[in-house]
Amino acid sequence: MPISKQPAKALTPPQKLTPAKRKLAIEGVPSARAKKIAASEPVSAKMRRGRTAKPLSPERIQGILDALRRLYPGVVCALTHKNAFELTIATILSAQTTDVGVNKCTPELFKMFPTPRRLADAPVLEVERIIHGTGFYRAKAKNTIAAAKVLVERFRGKVPETVEEMIELPGVARKTANVVLGSWYGIASGVVVDTHVLRLSLRLELTKHTEPVKVELDLQKVIPRDRWIQFSHELIHHGRQVCIARKPRCADCGLETLCNAKDKTWSSH
Ligand code: SF4
Repeated sequence: MPISKQPAKALTPPQKLTPAKRKLAIEGVPSARAKKIAASEPVSAKMRRGRTAKPLSPERIQGILDALRRLYPGVVCALTHKNAFELTIATILSAQTTDVGVNKCTPELFKMFPTPRRLADAPVLEVERIIHGTGFYRAKAKNTIAAAKVLVERFRGKVPETVEEMIELPGVARKTANVVLGSWYGIASGVVVDTHVLRLSLRLELTKHTEPVKVELDLQKVIPRDRWIQFSHELIHHGRQVCIARKPRCADCGLETLCNAKDKTWSSH
């Protein structure tokens, strides 16, 4: 069911409105000023929402999926890459940092070491210098060179197409394997659970867990397999642009009518 047709009242108990929100309810579509007021007025402890009555109902899940697809049509992985090898290395480098930061250093890295064999033979100090800005550069340089060696020695220089083989590469865990298999090979091996997917899955009540592996299993149960790849991309983009960690921009959120997160900063229902 499209999000716009979702009856908001069915999802939450009636709430007492603050003056700003009562004004919004009366006037309908919030003005820019009203949005500003409401956004600066976090939902108080008293007003905090309870749990959604049926957070995993097929109708609600479909509403979330439809809204995400509409908001982020054709969205792709934000890491710059030209092949599976580059995406694997870029994803290893993306741990604990931003894709923007990784994209700043990978052009030089892949220009100097364009293949697994070249990277496997790379001087570690040179790799450390190039990737310095991504943080944890010593461990990442060691892992990327070691991963390139395993690619050459075990897989003839080709990035494998299964999670089990991918996680044999140093620095590669399930998340990286899912990124590469999904974004490059189009294989829905799992759902990518990064910091954004984890946070949004909790806010949208798609899971109660905080461990990525358990969150992924929960998501796999409710998200159709043919949406696993795009769902991750869409949620990551939504987490970066709107549902940010510290102060989510709920007044601008296309999922707002379906969301009852406890830390919402604005609510229409
Ligand atoms: S309404 Fe707010 S908390 Fe809920 S998904 Fe949107 S931005 Fe995130």
